[in-house]
Amino acid sequence: MKTEEFAFQEGAAACGCSDCSRISAGYGKTADLTRRRFFCGAIGGTAAVLAGATLSSTRPAFAQTTMTPQEALQAMMDGNARYVGGQLQSLNEDLSILKANTAEKQEPFAAVLSCADSRVPVELVFDQSIGHLFVVRVAGNITSPEITASLEYGVAVLGTKVLMVLGHGNCGAVKATIEGKAVPGQISALYAPIRPAVDTAGSDLDAAIDANAKNQATLLSQASPIIAGAIKDGKLKVVSARYDVASGKVALLS
Ligand SMILES: [Zn+2]
Repeated sequence: MKTEEFAFQEGAAACGCSDCSRISAGYGKTADLTRRRFFCGAIGGTAAVLAGATLSSTRPAFAQTTMTPQEALQAMMDGNARYVGGQLQSLNEDLSILKANTAEKQEPFAAVLSCADSRVPVELVFDQSIGHLFVVRVAGNITSPEITASLEYGVAVLGTKVLMVLGHGNCGAVKATIEGKAVPGQISALYAPIRPAVDTAGSDLDAAIDANAKNQATLLSQASPIIAGAIKDGKLKVVSARYDVASGKVALLS
């Protein structure tokens, strides 16, 4: 098997608290990794079907603290383009080395609020691996005090530069809210946060999915002083987007 170089580039400390003290040992570190073969049958149709293919090893070098919010968003969209095109690079990273470099710190450059739907594998969708994305998942990608608290941690402590609310096609939570049928247990607790989108979009599922993602992004942007402050200071960009479960493509809504 061939070997090839893979460069890690770590960012510096984003704040001085004990929770997020950064280790600079990984700066500019280069490691030889063994090229591996992958058999990847990803979500639906065109997305990342790489059976037997030997992949490129060139990974983007992330220096989180020097990225602008727009650069962080572009990194996500570039990763999605690789995913859709079947050119995943994150899978080339050797997990044991990656874990060794992230065991005592994390410095994700982006936060994602996604639905819990099993067809939305967030890291794969954006071609990112360990330590790059701070992901919060809940059915219907809705906000709640706990969800907001988690994302505030991602923004204020970890220093994420972009926060994406990611809805997706054929979302069961939105569909159930439109139908409004009786459901077992506490499932109906999901209805209330999604209801405003349904009130706006009516019974059009796609329109309601998009409206819900936009609503949750607006809620996060306005209801959280931490997130609102980071936006105002130019340190954070909040966007909403839709994931197509058939094509694998992410389309920005705002
Ligand atoms: Zn969903």
